[in-house]
Amino acid sequence: MYDLVVAGAGVAGCMAARRTAEKGFNVLLLDRASLDELGHPWVNGVEKSVFKRVGIEEPSGDEIMPSPAAFLTISPSGTHRLESHSHPTCEVRMREFARRLLDHAIAAGVTFAEATPVEGPLLERDRVRGVIAGGEEVPARVVMDASGWRAVVRRGLPESSHIPLEEGARHMVTAWREQRLFGQEEAQRVPEILGIPPGIGINRVGWRGGYSTLSLHWDPQERILDILVGYKRNRSEESAGEFVRSFFQEKGLGGERIYGGGGLIPVRRSLDVLVDHGILLAGDSACMVIPAHGSGVASSLIAGELAARTICRCLEEDDVSRENLWEYAAAYQRGRGALMAYFDIARIISERLSEDETEKLVGSLMTPADVEASLKAEPLKLSAKNILQRVKAFRHPVFAYRFARKSMAAPRLKKVYENYPARYHPQELKSWREEVRRILIELGEDVDS
Ligand SMILES: Cc1cc2nc3c(=O)[nH]c(=O)nc-3n(C[C@H](O)[C@H](O)[C@H](O)COP(=O)(O)OP(=O)(O)OC[C@H]3O[C@@H](n4cnc5c(N)ncnc54)[C@H](O)[C@@H]3O)c2cc1C
Repeated sequence: MYDLVVAGAGVAGCMAARRTAEKGFNVLLLDRASLDELGHPWVNGVEKSVFKRVGIEEPSGDEIMPSPAAFLTISPSGTHRLESHSHPTCEVRMREFARRLLDHAIAAGVTFAEATPVEGPLLERDRVRGVIAGGEEVPARVVMDASGWRAVVRRGLPESSHIPLEEGARHMVTAWREQRLFGQEEAQRVPEILGIPPGIGINRVGWRGGYSTLSLHWDPQERILDILVGYKRNRSEESAGEFVRSFFQEKGLGGERIYGGGGLIPVRRSLDVLVDHGILLAGDSACMVIPAHGSGVASSLIAGELAARTICRCLEEDDVSRENLWEYAAAYQRGRGALMAYFDIARIISERLSEDETEKLVGSLMTPADVEASLKAEPLKLSAKNILQRVKAFRHPVFAYRFARKSMAAPRLKKVYENYPARYHPQELKSWREEVRRILIELGEDVDS
């Protein structure tokens, strides 16, 4: 029997598997993808600070793509622009990066099984005793669901579990990112047709509902166009990938896709409960992305690392009960989870903004420091400089007042997450959930669907 079976060799799964194997435990890592197909085929912007925090080398060389010198955040009509010059993230080619994480896990002693889809948990009453994979039972002392938004183990848990089993489709964002290489001749026309300045990344927000983004960056030297599109799935029948295909057709642009792809991102604060008897969730399977913009790699690395610490202790104590695994849930929710809850308020507010309100937000309330803070996953700072910048907000006093009032929910929700129950206790958990619910209901969030 394996000590730990991990479903999904993505960022969270590889991290947890490696750290657990390094302590001498017997770990099996399963992925539905073959070795050649492993790792998302798109580029992700990842907080630079996370690599040191989890003890891995910052990506470099083939693992990264250069960042533009500056970014412009643009309002839906294009009238308002915020210019940022800082680079808190690095642009990571996920296929290469995931391969490095897997190589490190295998070097630590992890057994990797490619092309082996996990179908669900192996249950004994309300306890997880392993997984069902490739039609076979794979027993394990403890299981981690790191299968991304599909959450294949979580969804098979018994109804009695405190873990929310079904994550509502309303939280899913469809996203696509690709790089296209253009021939010498066509390249001359790209910036003019798209109306974008060469070398500068532009990010148009609010063009398909409050929570939507369309980013473009044209690199004239390499003749490569980088495009990222994301919006709430319930906003359109069209997937982000389909949108990108029609976008190029409508613009009459060809080019060749050299890297890229897309899928779904579960965009909300982390699930209320992250562990149960014999199981932990990490990464997208537990909705751990930064809700303001859907970046999940840093949270997945952090969660994988934290989970491994608890897993090793619980295996040593031969007790993988929910009560003993709870330490991981509390450590995540009180730290990274609290920050994600803070940014979930930004997501909730922005989702409801009309186009006109998004205009006002970019034109008079937001500052470049806000953009930087959300990329770094740091609470917004009220420095003298950006208070002065916010004076523009007096142009729309009613909007600014309402926005500021709603935003006050962010530090409140963060505080509630910082006080996540330190140990498993049903009554404490119930009271904690009530506190979260109260704040969300004040914002008009439908907490029950
Ligand atoms: C287009 C796009 C752009 C994005 N941009 C960013 C960005 O800029 N920055 C950022 O931080 N994040 C970004 N994200 C989100 C980011 O990709 C995820 O948050 C992150 O990859 C989650 O890591 P994870 O380890 O939870 O899951 P994943 O990395 O998704 O890994 C899950 C693994 O589970 C495997 N799996 C799935 N089902 C099964 C099964 N049944 N059995 C076995 N294995 C299975 C998959 O093959 C995969 O290898 C983006 C997402 C998309 C779609």
